[in-house]
Amino acid sequence: MKFKVLGAGSATPVVGRYPSAFALNHENETFLIDCGEGTQWRMLEFGVKHHKINHIFISHLHGDHFLGLVGLISSMNSLGRKQKLTVYAPPGLKEIITIQFKYQETRLEFDLVLIEIISEEKSPLFESATIVVSSFPLVHRISTFGFLFEEKIKPRNFKKDKLSEEISLANIHQLKQGKDVLDENGKIKYTSEEYTFSTDLPKTFAYCSDTAYSESILPFIQNADLLYHESTFLQDKIRRAEETFHSTATQAASIAFKSNVKHLVLGHFSARYKEIEPFFAEASGIFPNLTLAIGGTEIDL
Ligand SMILES: [Zn+2]
Ligand SMILES: [Zn+2]
Repeated sequence: MKFKVLGAGSATPVVGRYPSAFALNHENETFLIDCGEGTQWRMLEFGVKHHKINHIFISHLHGDHFLGLVGLISSMNSLGRKQKLTVYAPPGLKEIITIQFKYQETRLEFDLVLIEIISEEKSPLFESATIVVSSFPLVHRISTFGFLFEEKIKPRNFKKDKLSEEISLANIHQLKQGKDVLDENGKIKYTSEEYTFSTDLPKTFAYCSDTAYSESILPFIQNADLLYHESTFLQDKIRRAEETFHSTATQAASIAFKSNVKHLVLGHFSARYKEIEPFFAEASGIFPNLTLAIGGTEIDL
């Protein structure tokens, strides 16, 4: 998987900082996560292709997380899209999009499926042969969800020097799934460990924006390879963070530390901060494996 930042500012515009939008490449597909104003321009700038997007995940209905969506869908339509697009979002988005398209007299030439997220538990939204995407509740002023992208266990690779006429294709398939092959007496004939190897462990990415500091999210994001967590404020504005249901850099780093994730990305920086380096200084003392999200940042998982 590859995580790409298209925008990681907060609601008030700042030159050079764009509202939330992220692309997660998995195999030959791109998942779009949030879609703030102007996301389609950032997609052009950072090489994210429309036709690779089949699923869009919207965390909540504050404008800095979804106001780019109608524009993006309109462009997909005018560029001749035919393939289905599924958008996952809290209740209300369907009404907003329906009214917008009604008055702009847009007739979509492709299937737009809107799935409402309502569950207050961890809840699977999408599953393919290789990945499961789930939502989980965050703590914000309106109904808001985090997303968890969990790769499934990948087939192991068969060792070429172990190929022989004795081993059938069915045996090889079984060994690649991590299962040993037994003989007619039930004794182990070939072990998966001896005949195969794995170079690629399944990865997990967790997305948390926007949210107040809440340890209720720890079980959902535990041991993730990469965590994106908002840090709208520095610790000197912790009262403001509490009032607005946002987090500070210290709080985001504490969540990363307590959930034992491997790598933390901070974003959603308030427009009051002209420089973002202080976020690094504050959070890295608690959680050193840290990246600040700016447009174009890419992280390979
Ligand atoms: Zn926001
Ligand atoms: Zn918000």
